[in-house]
Amino acid sequence: MSSSIGKALAERLDREDPLGAFRERFHIPKRENGEDEIYFCGNSLGLQPKSARRYVEEVLEAWARMGARGHFEGDRPWLPYHEFATEKLARLIGALPSEVAAMNSLTANLHLLMVSFYRPTPERHKILIEAHAFPSDRYAVESQIRFHGFDPDGSLIQAETRQGESIIRMDDLLQLVDREGESIALILWPGVQFYTGQAFALEKIVEAGHRKGCAVGFDLAHAAGNLVLNLHDSKADFAVWCSYKYLNAGPGSVAGCFVHERHARRFDLPRFAGWWGHDKSTRFAMPPRFNPLPGAEGWQLSNPPILSLAPLLASLDLFDAAGMEALRAKSEKLTGYLERLLIERCDDKVAILTPAQPAERGCQLSIRLQDGKPIHEGLMAAGIACDWRGPDVIRLAPVPLYNRFGDVFDVVERLERMLEHA
Ligand SMILES: *Cc1c(COP(=O)(O)O)cnc(C)c1O
Repeated sequence: MSSSIGKALAERLDREDPLGAFRERFHIPKRENGEDEIYFCGNSLGLQPKSARRYVEEVLEAWARMGARGHFEGDRPWLPYHEFATEKLARLIGALPSEVAAMNSLTANLHLLMVSFYRPTPERHKILIEAHAFPSDRYAVESQIRFHGFDPDGSLIQAETRQGESIIRMDDLLQLVDREGESIALILWPGVQFYTGQAFALEKIVEAGHRKGCAVGFDLAHAAGNLVLNLHDSKADFAVWCSYKYLNAGPGSVAGCFVHERHARRFDLPRFAGWWGHDKSTRFAMPPRFNPLPGAEGWQLSNPPILSLAPLLASLDLFDAAGMEALRAKSEKLTGYLERLLIERCDDKVAILTPAQPAERGCQLSIRLQDGKPIHEGLMAAGIACDWRGPDVIRLAPVPLYNRFGDVFDVVERLERMLEHA
């Protein structure tokens, strides 16, 4: 193989990496022999920031020491605890602080926001999703359609890729919206497609949808902490994301939602209410009439699980310190390096499904291989954590916060050797 992109290059890129030191701030899972795993599934569950423990212990400590006083006292009282995440989350996704709230889980937030932004009428009752949408999103959307008395058979539009292709063509999508838009109440679209890793130009989808009078919401499960997002400028109506993937906030951690500023005071919109969405100044007077907070906070339901919010604060510190622009710059290099190595060393045995344009992908490359299952098992056995999506796809996600160019090199070298012997 050419030495120009070999091990020496990986070592140089790691030495020159301005973000290299962030790896030290994470727990890297270990193999049986005690060596670090190569962890390429941060798109599934991000690694634990070492500082997460301190944040969680602080909550346990405050609870032990103060009981209910912890709601109001201490360095980070629980009453406004979610607010400690707000500004950093807003920076991370390119929104105003009033447009974001850390709350609930992704699918719960999706339902809550569809209650407000999916308002079907007999003329306009359809929801547009992608044909290969994540199952939870599909279940949520279909159940909302039924909840309103419609039938997914007539009210769900699924955008397909072209025959034999795995990537949605933006022009096809925009034409579909143009053609069918008048019957579409809501477009629900991913920021990054979970299977192929395709990233979408959000503002173009919003523009096309709004031109036809559709509401447009995004599922950013695979985009938050992966892409540089400008949600406010995209003019999206709403967005939701989880925080255990690229956001490294731990299994089942508290999710996020975005509601565009122009809807901040749309108190006329139907919403499912709970006391945490109620005006903070009178929340504890507990008046009988619900008076929603302006902005995304007005969609909260309950007092949040503080122990699950604590690791999110730890993780957001790291994103804030690194900066999403810098992370993305490294990410493009890291993924570009993975792509070059795969093409150079495994080209005849591996097809990359993910778009080749950096603007059309995040950090994940999805590769298709024949008889891939034993290859995946072999990679896992060699201490390379990556994920298998049947029937024939391995997803590799080099994450700029904690993965190295050397990791990328080692993965491709191992893969090449296994393919030779397959
Ligand atoms: C990970 C993921 C989810 C998970 O939903 P939860 O409510 O967090 O369990 C939903 N949608 C997409 C697109 C995902 O990638």
